[in-house]
Amino acid sequence: MYRDVTCGALRTTDIGRNITLSGWVQKTRDKGFVVWIDLRDRYGITQLVMDEERSTLALLEQARQLGRETVLQVKGTVVERTSKNPNLPTGDIEVLVEGLTVLNPSLLPPFTIEDETDGGDDLRMKYRYLDIRRNPVKNNLIFRHRVSMEVRKYLSEQDFIEVETPYLIKSTPEGARDFLVPSRMNQGQFYALPQSPQTFKQLLMVGGMDKYFQIVKCFRDEDLRADRQPEFTQIDCEMAFVEQEDILNTFEGLTRHLLKEIHNIDVDAFPRMTYDDAMAKYGNDKPDIRFGMEFGELNEVAQHKEFNVFNSAELVVGIAIPGAATFTRKEIDKLIDWVKRPQVGAKGMVYVKYNEDGSFKSSVDKFYDAQDFEQWAQRTQAQPGDLICVLSGTAKATRAQLSALRMEMAERLGLRKADEFAPLWVVDFPLLELDEETGNYHAMHHPFTSPKPEQMELLDSDPGAVKANAYDLVLNGNEIGGGSIRIHDKEIQATMFKHLGFTPEEAKAQFGFLMDAFQYGAPPHGGIAFGLDRLVAILGGQETIRDFIAFPKNNSGRDVMIDAPADIDSTQLDELGIALNLD
Ligand code: ASP
Repeated sequence: MYRDVTCGALRTTDIGRNITLSGWVQKTRDKGFVVWIDLRDRYGITQLVMDEERSTLALLEQARQLGRETVLQVKGTVVERTSKNPNLPTGDIEVLVEGLTVLNPSLLPPFTIEDETDGGDDLRMKYRYLDIRRNPVKNNLIFRHRVSMEVRKYLSEQDFIEVETPYLIKSTPEGARDFLVPSRMNQGQFYALPQSPQTFKQLLMVGGMDKYFQIVKCFRDEDLRADRQPEFTQIDCEMAFVEQEDILNTFEGLTRHLLKEIHNIDVDAFPRMTYDDAMAKYGNDKPDIRFGMEFGELNEVAQHKEFNVFNSAELVVGIAIPGAATFTRKEIDKLIDWVKRPQVGAKGMVYVKYNEDGSFKSSVDKFYDAQDFEQWAQRTQAQPGDLICVLSGTAKATRAQLSALRMEMAERLGLRKADEFAPLWVVDFPLLELDEETGNYHAMHHPFTSPKPEQMELLDSDPGAVKANAYDLVLNGNEIGGGSIRIHDKEIQATMFKHLGFTPEEAKAQFGFLMDAFQYGAPPHGGIAFGLDRLVAILGGQETIRDFIAFPKNNSGRDVMIDAPADIDSTQLDELGIALNLD
């Protein structure tokens, strides 16, 4: 037997026990007449002791030779420590070693295996298996497991069945490129890896599995933005015989269950906000509502003077930054530079200091008077002491810019508190989104999303105005889940494909199987999918999903540990009937 107890288990009640432990050498301390070893495993650290009085010289000598990360088996007796360590659960005891067996030596690790490591990101990723020995990474993986288990528990109790769907499939459009897998047996043909199990879960509804879920990998070949992974995990769910309300309630229940079990937090009924309201109030379809700074639209109270920048703008909109009226000219200039960075893209920024004494000082004093500023303050809900920041331009771009400023200021002011959770539903998303480059519409959620039935006739006359039965669950400024009520009628699905620019032949070739299935008694259905990686990160009080994935890819989509993607040899290519044409 390698061990009969773990390195995190022993307490004073175990004093006198003979035990066998296995683990890694965290460090050794050699005081000459006594040697201590910290032995580590997943469960904790136990201090081992050998001294001249109680141990043989050979054993002491053997202990002195042990390098960090040696895999060790130890037999010994649990004894009370003379100087206890209150910071360690095992800190009241130590193990007086009677025998040491080296199970495997270790090279010197390229970075220290400690909570605060000296290893940079790249090095840690290359030796991820060593990184995982560190508490922060290890604990994140354990935390992820806990969240997954709670998800499975909750959904199973609600009668959901976990069903696996295939990975080698045909394209399921979720707005990204597919990862493709060449088929050896069908040369020249390719499978696509699922961007989501969307069509399969709908087919499961046709199959009568009225409550489905799956914790499942999805694959999207996107240009990687910060903190995106080409493969990621969804909690994918679908229900039959439901309306939007049923789905919102069920998954509000799941989220509430997680917040309760993981953080012992009770949250009131989640607020609901329409997409249009979210855009108008926060400039963002995933608003962080832990803090105010809501948008105040100023067209009516800013376009009556000679200030042409505002007069020619589609939207003039501001926010009040709490307590920032004391900003110096230099600080404000810096803020203006910040909004003008290409990543934000504003042309400039108008500011109004709403001083503590009720007076105003602004960059547009030439054009506006105190009465105007009173109105601006009212609309942005500014208090004396606040700084009102105003942007203008096209509605879409200006909202995005002001939203970026709002988030940035909240971050700087410490208003985005990791231990505060403010979920909400954003509902009534537009069905279609205009691609400004091509002039074509594409599905805002995905092509299987149902328009609001009462707006069906608008599809031909004003497609951009049609709202969908689509919803997102937003937590602390992150979209953690999104879904919709689906189309379950073949004709409506065909109409939808037409609006998305598919010819009937293309639609049949790509999605004939789904439309066929709709002719065999497809029940009304809908669902949602949560991004598990992000959900876990946010519940863990962090925003970087990579820290919660055992073996993540880097920002160029590479796994630097196994070195993938990689070249393949020519025999493999021949077998696949693929000729590379790389210039
Ligand atoms: N398949 C969708 C997605 O991946 C989620 C859903 O509509 O249920 O975003």
